[in-house]
Amino acid sequence: MLVLVLNAGSSSLKFNLFDMSKEISLAEGMVERIGLAEANLACTVEGDRHKEILPIPTHREALEAILDRLKATVLQGTPIHAVGHRVVHGGPKYGDSVLVTEEVVKDIETFAMYAPLHNPANALGIRTAMAAFPDVPHIAVFDTAFHHDIPDHARMYGIPYELSQKYGIRRYGFHGTSHAFVAARTAILLCRPLRALKIVTCHIGNGTSICAVNYGKSLDTSMGMTPLQGVIMGTRCGTIDPSVVEMLMEYEHLDYNGITDLLNKKSGLLGISGVSSDFREIERAAEQGNDRARLARDLLTYNVRQYIGAYATVLDGLDAITFTAGIGTHSTFVRAKVCSKLSFLGVKIDPEANEHGTGERIISTADSRVAVTVVPTNEELMIARETVR
Ligand code: AMP
Repeated sequence: MLVLVLNAGSSSLKFNLFDMSKEISLAEGMVERIGLAEANLACTVEGDRHKEILPIPTHREALEAILDRLKATVLQGTPIHAVGHRVVHGGPKYGDSVLVTEEVVKDIETFAMYAPLHNPANALGIRTAMAAFPDVPHIAVFDTAFHHDIPDHARMYGIPYELSQKYGIRRYGFHGTSHAFVAARTAILLCRPLRALKIVTCHIGNGTSICAVNYGKSLDTSMGMTPLQGVIMGTRCGTIDPSVVEMLMEYEHLDYNGITDLLNKKSGLLGISGVSSDFREIERAAEQGNDRARLARDLLTYNVRQYIGAYATVLDGLDAITFTAGIGTHSTFVRAKVCSKLSFLGVKIDPEANEHGTGERIISTADSRVAVTVVPTNEELMIARETVR
């Protein structure tokens, strides 16, 4: 069974084609800079890399360019059986993946009120793919779905109850496919059933979220109604006092777009360090003695540690901590620093395993009361699995 996974952004379209009989990726890549005369198509098909610069005015031409490459290489007449779509926000309605209908697409467009930067592009991607593949099932897989059942006391904000109800203002959480995937892999690594484990999963990448996974279910998570809340991120501020927003709007003369742009794109590690949003560059600058880069690095590790401590309480115990995403998977420094001050929980890292291993592994010592694992995430495979299910 061939499943095409699509992830549409406002000017990009990522894809991954899976053969789900073996759960292997046959081809993957993305089109970037859609809308410009010089857009980029980059893809890897059965190990061969291919790059092209071509004019791509809309998502329709982006998908056509991708399909042309696939048809000429891996597909060669074999049909695609289903398309899985990554959708950032499922609003209050969707607690599971869903077969796409017109009503579903309209809902996704409506829930742009919670994810204005993501949902319109996701809906556009679905409409484009449905026009290209009118006869196959399309499945929407929501980033928020895994957190759909977190208890009210963990998801309500302290605003008037009627307003929460009227607008659906509450914590939704994101990166759900990633948290679900790495929690399940951690159980396999530890040779224990997921339903018996209390895990804190740390998805630390450009976007960062932490999740308290109680016996396989999300009990709490650090992102909120939008992906802006929680830990400091590449360019997003994370949790701040809402009064900061009022003050900046007034004193910096910012309107809605101005403050949205500042908090989403100019803040976080980039805003603090002044160096970059890319953590590798921040690590490099920090090692060379750049104080602001050091501060950005320290803020990130401090925030992650705060959440792990909080979630050990939320879970009323802790069996494992799992690190994933670009920074979580690759930064030995971040993992060591986060875990160095968790000795009160009985966390003991094996420095050798932390520094020298690769891929999925346990990096805690044999006598650590809490296991620590590294699990590269695979959100696209999760979306393909959901599509098959
Ligand atoms: P993601 O959003 O999961 O793709 O993660 C992107 C982030 O991971 C960026 O900040 C990268 O700088 C960071 N990253 C990727 N590789 C490494 C590495 N080897 N060491 C430290 N950070 C890394």
